[in-house]
Amino acid sequence: MSFSFTILGSGSSGNCTLLQHNGYHLLIDAGLSGRETCRRLAALGVAPESVRGILLTHEHQDHIQGLAGLTRRFRMPVFAGSATLDALRPGSPISAAEPIACGQEFVLGGMSIQPFSISHDCADPMAFLIRADGLQLGFAMDLGYISGLVRERLLGCDALVLESNHDLEMLKAGPYPWELKQRVLGRLGHLSNEAVAQFLEKDFDGRARHIVLAHLSQNNNHPDLAVLSARRALLGRGIQEEEVDRRVRLSFQHRVSETIRPDEENNRRDQ
Ligand SMILES: [Zn+2]
Ligand SMILES: [Zn+2]
Repeated sequence: MSFSFTILGSGSSGNCTLLQHNGYHLLIDAGLSGRETCRRLAALGVAPESVRGILLTHEHQDHIQGLAGLTRRFRMPVFAGSATLDALRPGSPISAAEPIACGQEFVLGGMSIQPFSISHDCADPMAFLIRADGLQLGFAMDLGYISGLVRERLLGCDALVLESNHDLEMLKAGPYPWELKQRVLGRLGHLSNEAVAQFLEKDFDGRARHIVLAHLSQNNNHPDLAVLSARRALLGRGIQEEEVDRRVRLSFQHRVSETIRPDEENNRRDQ
């Protein structure tokens, strides 16, 4: 039995994650170009022909850039909310659409997938709980804040992929125009390092042995700041330093991150 995930790329210019379960391959989002997605899959020894579908969080460009090309070329079905599919259609023809809905669990390749609602400025934003082999991955990117529902859904996870988009001070002092700053900071925007830290310190149940920080802004964040903030929050709960170092991971825009098996304590470090 094997269940793992690999972030192929994550950040403001493209997000794509590979889920693997017993040889079954599924992507979450297709925000890298089709060609780059194939290149990064190849680096993992995964043929794009073997990917059985794309699970979509929402229709923003940094999550769908490669969608039309991949679905056309490899006939991958797209699993997304109905409103997301409607929002996609004019600009991004896809070969096969499979509507999914928040709160309605479904099974693909032996993985049980439960979409849940998050707050973001798009048609039907979703995060996912993915369960396989008795293990649970919580996957939440592009959310303006951590709602009560999100807190509840992220309980009991063995691994978490969580957006840590910006550092508040860097965003405020940074190059974005005022309207865009307001958008990122708002309840329909993106999670800050500080919001993640608050979650980890107060609401996180302490279970997940792998906490992957994702969707870091290149303009308004620095990987060291994101890690420092998450580390400080976990240390504040009294978790030992060595243990904190093992748990907190980064993901990267321009390269594939380490493959994480939620059941293994010591995955290969690649940082
Ligand atoms: Zn978005
Ligand atoms: Zn995004």
